[in-house]
Amino acid sequence: TINGSKESKTPQDKLIGGLLTSDFDERSCVSRYYKSSLYRKPSPYNPSEYLISKLRSYEKLHKRCGPGTQAYKEATKNLLHGHDDNKNYANKTVDECKYIVWVAVYGLGNRILTLASVFLYALLTDRVVLVDQSKDISDLFCEPFPGTSWLLPRDFPLTRQIDGYNKEYSRCYGTMLNNHAISTNSTPPHLYLHILHDSRDEDKMFFCPKDQTLIDKVPWLIVKANVYFVPSLWFNPSFQTELVKLFPQKEAVFHLLAKYLYHPTNDVWGMITKYYKAHLARADERLGIQIRVFSGDAGYLKNVMGQVLSCTQREKLLPQVVTQEVNVTQSQKVKAVLVTSLYPEYSDHLRNMFSKQKGETIKVYQPSGERYQQTDKKIHDQKALTEMYLLSLNDKVVTSARSTFGYVAHSLGGLKPWLMYQPMDKSVPDPPCVRSTSIEPCHLTSPSHGCGADWGTDSGKVLPFVKHCEDRDNDGLKLF
Ligand code: GDP
Repeated sequence: TINGSKESKTPQDKLIGGLLTSDFDERSCVSRYYKSSLYRKPSPYNPSEYLISKLRSYEKLHKRCGPGTQAYKEATKNLLHGHDDNKNYANKTVDECKYIVWVAVYGLGNRILTLASVFLYALLTDRVVLVDQSKDISDLFCEPFPGTSWLLPRDFPLTRQIDGYNKEYSRCYGTMLNNHAISTNSTPPHLYLHILHDSRDEDKMFFCPKDQTLIDKVPWLIVKANVYFVPSLWFNPSFQTELVKLFPQKEAVFHLLAKYLYHPTNDVWGMITKYYKAHLARADERLGIQIRVFSGDAGYLKNVMGQVLSCTQREKLLPQVVTQEVNVTQSQKVKAVLVTSLYPEYSDHLRNMFSKQKGETIKVYQPSGERYQQTDKKIHDQKALTEMYLLSLNDKVVTSARSTFGYVAHSLGGLKPWLMYQPMDKSVPDPPCVRSTSIEPCHLTSPSHGCGADWGTDSGKVLPFVKHCEDRDNDGLKLF
């Protein structure tokens, strides 16, 4: 069907129970309507009717306010000529549009998590999301909203300044709060939200009710973030009321948002499906192992290899190596192991170990070994996305603690990962890993307490379903 056509023939299963609109041309983005049963077991996480209707109204809003519309023109004009006084924004008509600009910073895993967070915040606050296209986002993902674009036009008036925005910037929300420079009767035309690992409480807690009364009036928000801040949004009671309706299965937030937003471009989809068909499709079982090394002397580390073996064997994900003949009547199952890492040595080691395995066949694959992070290099990022996606297609997955790359992979796949604890020295952590009881990503460097009356309460104890992350020792927040 043609973009915008009402007579779509796209079957309902390809639309993920109505999560996706049928208003797109299938060929321009093959991954959007792919037949998931070809690659995945059916997901137990389904979109609610309320989420579906919210997405359809968001699509209308985006079309009305998006790039190229009169509303967008007006809004950018006001951005330049607006003043920090009440008369410009206090009398807004209902037709005016409010925006939130997502800026691409940090690695691809971080970006995927933060853009989903920003999108959910936009759904909750009736804002339109626009995406910084100065990096390679359009080489990675198709447009998610029909009949419009999510890309921030290159001539956006603040484009050249955004790079320099940081905590010191005078329009940074936390800084304005500290300087008593913002109040309900003095609303700036734009605000910068700094939601990074080095944020102050004043920045982190932007979602609390009293902050929202100030922020809600601001027509333009510009966000730099590197954490998945969705779990904290539930601390705002009015957001929580909406969120419960949107996501009755609380741990499915990222899983569903990712399936709605992120459709790899045809180039990347080609890389994913080609690799899958060549190496994973025919296996009886598929195990993904993501090995991310954060320590300064990154590379092949013996204790990390030991940890991978210790975790996978203890949890019965991989067998002990058996080289003596075993009873041949045993089934000759093939298990595919997909390793992703910047370093090829880990999969080399596993492959050698299992090359003479008797009884069952263990095939070890690793799509790339890039050695070092090269974010913003097109083909490097395309490989990274391919691998996150391939990991998500496994039956089971082992990931490295604290890695947003791993979080995206398991959550997209609807998988509860085995999280390998971050080694603190040169030894193998004991225990080596822990099974997550949720498919959600962790909000790293989360606020330490709740909003308002919950200010004194440890953030992991404010709500029964928002708890500290298993891989973060009394830290981080995650939906369960
Ligand atoms: P995080 O640093 O683990 O939280 O994940 P990010 O994705 O934000 O940043 C790490 C970046 O390093 C990735 O985006 C890739 O560019 C690169 N990288 C790390 N691990 C891998 C891997 O297993 N495969 C590939 N292809 N790239 C990786």
